[in-house]
Amino acid sequence: MSRPKHPNKHIEESIQYAEEHGWRYKKTGKSAHAWGRLLCVLSNRSGCSMSIWSTPRNPLNHANQIIRKVNQCIHDGDDDE
Ligand SMILES: [Zn+2]
Repeated sequence: MSRPKHPNKHIEESIQYAEEHGWRYKKTGKSAHAWGRLLCVLSNRSGCSMSIWSTPRNPLNHANQIIRKVNQCIHDGDDDE
């Protein structure tokens, strides 16, 4: 599945980092300011998720938040029970 490229390069790099760790893009329709959501490997209610903004006030800070969230995730992708 393809996802739109994020307009900010710092955030795009963080999203790629997340994807390398098994996170997936999910489209969000409601807000014009939201680029979408990232869901961790679980991709269900008990998994982690994070809203990604299109134009955050501080893109570098937002990019760092994404990295932190990915690193905090304790789920390892072993979700086929
Ligand atoms: Zn997680």
